[in-house]
Amino acid sequence: MRALVKHKAEPGLWLMDVPEPETGPGDVLIKVLRTGICGTDLHIRNWDGWAQQAVTTPRVLGHEFVGEVAHTGADVQDIKVGDIVSGEGHLVCGKCRNCLAGRRHLCRSTVGLGVGVDGAFAEYVALPASNVWVHRTKVDLDVAAIFDPFGNAVHTALSFPLVGEDVLITGAGPIGIMAAAVARHAGARSVVITDVSEPRLELARQVGATLAVNVAQSSIKEAQAKLGLKEGFDIGLEMSGRPEAMRDMVDNMTHGGRIAMLGLPAEEFAVDWSRIVTSMITVKGIYGREMYETWYAMTVLIEAGLDLRPVITGSYAYQDFQAAFDEAATARSGKIILDWTV
Ligand SMILES: [Zn+2]
Ligand SMILES: [Zn+2]
Repeated sequence: MRALVKHKAEPGLWLMDVPEPETGPGDVLIKVLRTGICGTDLHIRNWDGWAQQAVTTPRVLGHEFVGEVAHTGADVQDIKVGDIVSGEGHLVCGKCRNCLAGRRHLCRSTVGLGVGVDGAFAEYVALPASNVWVHRTKVDLDVAAIFDPFGNAVHTALSFPLVGEDVLITGAGPIGIMAAAVARHAGARSVVITDVSEPRLELARQVGATLAVNVAQSSIKEAQAKLGLKEGFDIGLEMSGRPEAMRDMVDNMTHGGRIAMLGLPAEEFAVDWSRIVTSMITVKGIYGREMYETWYAMTVLIEAGLDLRPVITGSYAYQDFQAAFDEAATARSGKIILDWTV
């Protein structure tokens, strides 16, 4: 089968023939229909410091996908050939304290699909049945392809109750934009999102952000004044991993404010901890999605009319992966889809 492979330990990606994945009795073989390109995939293509320590070659990339079940192992129940499915990209150990307690998203030995094991940028991908999410209601295939990052957005946005709250999101990448849509849908009073990319801020406005602020030109304090906020934001969703964004967020929170942080900083940085203490701020780290409470919430949000299609700004045949990756690496794009059926 054709697959996008990190073939050598150097920058680049290779489209090549590899054997179809093998499946055991508990596994599901999935014919891939569409995939989403993630920042993770860009890191691996660029072969940066993180990728060099996380990936051994050769490795088939990709963890954001939708596909059709082609085969199920003998022990698999409730998943049928022909089902339209996405996959939870974190493979958990099932043995650690958190796994045994049912808190699988907190597993200490998580392995990433397309990072630690061969992934979904291929004509077929195999997954344990426990990692397969069946789309039981009709969903747009492009939207289904980005359920994994949508899950990051939902898990982050719903970390704290949002009804009536004023929400600040720093970073209008695709996940920040999706989080803005979720926050509005979940009953936030106002959603302010920041970035320095005008096209991305415009996407955030399209999905319902109250204010999309270019922090190269104005400040979060000014946004507060515009909205008539007197005490700061109740909820912060940090999506950029950038020191200045986190500092800005801490500066603009109300007393007792709560911050969910998904943005992954490239290195250590300082924040005003005395401010966090005296403002009594909670900071919660987010990695992945809750299995499978977040997936349930995603499905219900889509059923209830949440529209993610504005977030998808490009679709390419998988053979054109170089152009697709280049587009995904720009500061203007939303989610970029690869089509594996062409
Ligand atoms: Zn991803
Ligand atoms: Zn575990």
